Amino acid sequence: MSEFELIRRYFTRATPSALLGVGDDAALLQVSAGHVLAVSSDMLVCGTHFFADADPYLLGHKALAVNLSDMAAMGAAPRWATLAISLPRVNEAGVDEIWLERFSAGFFALAQLYGVELVGGDTTAGPLNLSVTIMGEVPQGVALQRNGAQLGDEIWISGTLGDAALALAHLQKRIILSETEFSACALALHQPQPRIALGLALRGMANSAIDISDGLLADLGHILDASNVGAHLDFSLLPTSAHLSAHLRSPLGKQCVLAGGDDYELCFTASADRHAELLLLSEQLDLPLTCVGTIVAQRGCVVQDAQGDLIHFEKGGYEHFR
Ligand code: ADP
Ligand code: MG
Repeated sequence: MSEFELIRRYFTRATPSALLGVGDDAALLQVSAGHVLAVSSDMLVCGTHFFADADPYLLGHKALAVNLSDMAAMGAAPRWATLAISLPRVNEAGVDEIWLERFSAGFFALAQLYGVELVGGDTTAGPLNLSVTIMGEVPQGVALQRNGAQLGDEIWISGTLGDAALALAHLQKRIILSETEFSACALALHQPQPRIALGLALRGMANSAIDISDGLLADLGHILDASNVGAHLDFSLLPTSAHLSAHLRSPLGKQCVLAGGDDYELCFTASADRHAELLLLSEQLDLPLTCVGTIVAQRGCVVQDAQGDLIHFEKGGYEHFR
């Protein structure tokens, strides 16, 4: 199959909202009046972000999901994506037409769910590598940024934390989970659900936001640095699944919650006046929103347990070049 046949077969779908989609030297896109373009790229590298034998359908989902998560964190409505994909020569490393079919199905299923159109990309031979660029729009002046946290803001987290990291720990044989525990946690690892509806609802309500991709402490740390503030977190309030809660006494369980990564939940701050509104929003979205702490003037992040004792934590979060 030629490169062009491959693109036509697996990566070309209707793009009614683009002036021009796949097939020319560039796509042509029109942003809605009064809106700005939010653009972000996230790459999944074989061996770093996933194993070579990963289910291609789930990879297609995740490659887009991690990008949608960045749109959610900005309060942007996702519109378009491009996909740069480097593929081992067909039939090497398990990549063949069935792989492409499944990858494309996983990618487009999620794209369709959020009305995202694939408008271009690049296709080369090489080690398996998936890079998506997502484009979304947000009314001028209302994007959720990392630098807006205010003293006294409450710190909120969507969903639950740590399941993906716990599933990864199982795959890496650092812990042994039961079959049921693992399959529940593996869902979080392989099929994260981007919090788009939440991001849109937080426009004008949250003062700052970030998506948790590298672990709560690392990502909240970015908000704190950008906003020149600190945080008090109450460990006993951090939202966890029943599966993870059973491991909370162990250092590994604590690490999964505070520094696990791959959660793709939103961490945001909002004025305490918004508390009741946010609880209502949680009901409307059928998504847990949990207040876990406060923004304070003293720089750094203090984590206290239910007794008020400090939980010390080695610098958390996944960093590629450390
Ligand atoms: P060029 O050589 O001008 O860069 P390409 O041959 O790389 O163009 O790509 C041809 C067309 O196919 C372009 O419109 C490009 O955006 C699109 N394309 C290439 N790879 C992909 C892909 N993996 N997914 C979606 N569109 C793609
Ligand atoms: Mg090209």
